[in-house]
Amino acid sequence: MEKKEKVVILGAGIGGLSAGYFLAKTGKYEVTVLEKASAIGGLCASFEYNDFTLDYGAHKIYSVIPGVLDEIQTLMADRLLTLPKKNRLYLRGHLVDYPLKLGNLAGVLGLPTFLKLGIGYAFELARGFVLRRQPNSYEEYMVQRFGRPAYELVFEPLADKVWGEPATLHPEMARARVPASGGMEVILKLLGIKKETAETNAEFFYYPEKGFGDFPETMREYIENSGGRVISNTDVRELVQGDGRITSVKSLVDGSDAEFETDYLVSSIPLPVLSRLMFGQAATEFIGSVEDLQFRHLVLVYVFANRSLALEDQWIFLPEREYIFSRVFEQKQMNPELGPENQTAICCDFTCDEDSWQWNATDEELAQKTVDGLVEAGFINADEVSGYLVKRTRNFYPRYDLEYVEKMKKVNNQLQSVSNLLLTGRIGMYNYNNSDHCVDMGRFIAENLAQGDDPVDIWNNLEKRVADYKIVD
Ligand SMILES: Cc1cc2nc3c(=O)[nH]c(=O)nc-3n(C[C@H](O)[C@H](O)[C@H](O)COP(=O)(O)OP(=O)(O)OC[C@H]3O[C@@H](n4cnc5c(N)ncnc54)[C@H](O)[C@@H]3O)c2cc1C
Repeated sequence: MEKKEKVVILGAGIGGLSAGYFLAKTGKYEVTVLEKASAIGGLCASFEYNDFTLDYGAHKIYSVIPGVLDEIQTLMADRLLTLPKKNRLYLRGHLVDYPLKLGNLAGVLGLPTFLKLGIGYAFELARGFVLRRQPNSYEEYMVQRFGRPAYELVFEPLADKVWGEPATLHPEMARARVPASGGMEVILKLLGIKKETAETNAEFFYYPEKGFGDFPETMREYIENSGGRVISNTDVRELVQGDGRITSVKSLVDGSDAEFETDYLVSSIPLPVLSRLMFGQAATEFIGSVEDLQFRHLVLVYVFANRSLALEDQWIFLPEREYIFSRVFEQKQMNPELGPENQTAICCDFTCDEDSWQWNATDEELAQKTVDGLVEAGFINADEVSGYLVKRTRNFYPRYDLEYVEKMKKVNNQLQSVSNLLLTGRIGMYNYNNSDHCVDMGRFIAENLAQGDDPVDIWNNLEKRVADYKIVD
C-alpha cells in the first residue's frame, strides 16, 4: 500500500475541518487537526445552554459554487432540513424585503423620501450610461448601484455598524457582501420586474436539524473514521523548519509536550498568530505588516424570553444606528426542537473595535441595550425576558481597507518563503467568507495537492478563486 503523506492542519473550524475532510477523502493523507479550544467547529459550532442548542449567530447552508451543496448533502446524509428563507430589513419601524424592492419601500418611507430615492436611482442610472468609472471605495460602489439617498438610508449605516467608516472600505467589501448587480438590472429588480437570482438571494437554504454545529462535527467524525486525528486543547508552540519547509509542529496537548511530523501544513488560524509562530516576534517589520491588516471583533448577545416564538423571520437586519445590533436571529426558526416549547432565544449580533465602548462594556450593559432595542422594535415585551448570555470573539470580521490588497500581497510573499504551507478559512486566509467558501477552499486544496501540484501554485490559484466568492443572503 502506498505510504500516506502527513498533513497537519491548524484550527478545527469549518475551514480547517473542510481541508481535513477532503484530504482524508483522497485516501492519500494522514490528517492531524490541532485545535486550540476545548470544542471544535469554531464559529460554525453549536453549544448547549439552558435547554437550548444555540449557534453563533444566524448560520445557514447555501452555495452557488458548483458541487459544494452536493458535497455537504452527501456528508450530512438525511440530517439536513430544507427551509424556505425568511429574512427582512427593519427600517423606520417597518419590516421590508431584503434585497430591497422599491415597491415595498413606498409605503414605509412616505412619498417625499420615496421620490428622493427614485430620483437618486435615476440620476445614477443616467450617469452610468454616460460616465461610469471604476468605484474606488465601498461608498462609490453602492452609490453607483443604488443612488446616494438609498446609500445614506440603508447601506451607509449598515456598513458603518458592521465594518466602520464606509468611505475607507475597499469596493471589494461591497462586491463580496452586498446583493447588488449593475445599472438597469438593479432598477428592474427594485421595481419587482426582474427577479433576484440564486446568485444574489437564496430562496431556500439547508440547516442541520441538530444545530449548525452538526456540520463540523460530522466532518470531524469522517476524518477520525478515516484514521485521522482531531485534537482539541492544543497550544501550538513552534513550527520546526528546515530546507525552507515546515517539518514538524511542536505543541502542548492537554498541557503535555507533543510533536507532530508533517509533509504539509495547512493553517486556518489567524494570520498574525501563524506569522509569529513562523518568524518569531523578532521579525518586527513583517509582524507589523501582518498586524496592519484590519479586523473587527464580534459580539453576540442572546436574549431568552418566555414565549414560544418572537419573530416571523429567521433573521432580520437592522441598519439604523439607534439599535446596538445589526441583525437579530431566532434559533427556533431553524428548528423548533432546538429549544423548550414555551421559551425562545434571540441572538443579536454586532461588530466593534477593541477600543469601542461596546467591546469594553459589561455583559449586563450590553444585555440591557439589546433588550431595550428588541422591545423598542416590538420583537418582544420587557416582562417576557428571562435571561441573557454574551459571547465575544476577537478579530473575526476581516475589514478590507483601501490598501488591503497591497498589504496581503506583502504578507503572502513572505509566508510563501516556506514551500509546504497552505492557508485556508476566513481568518486563516483573511477572506470575508461563509462556510460554503471554506468547503470549496478545502476541496480545492485537497484535489490539487493530490494531483501533485506545488503548494505555492495551489495557494496562488486559490487566491484567484477566492477573489470571486460572493456571500449570498
Ligand atoms: C453572525 C455570523 C453569521 C454567519 N452566517 C453564516 C451563514 O449563514 N452561512 C455560512 O455558511 N457562514 C456564515 N458565517 C460565516 C462562518 O461562520 C465562517 O465562514 C466560518 O466560521 C469560518 O470558519 P473558519 O474555520 O475559517 O474560522 P473559525 O470558525 O474562526 O475557526 C478557526 C478555528 O481555529 C482555532 N484556532 C485559533 N487559533 C488557534 C491556534 N493558535 N491553534 C489552533 N487552533 C486555533 C479557533 O479556536 C477556531 O476553532 C457567519 C458568521 C457569523 C459571525
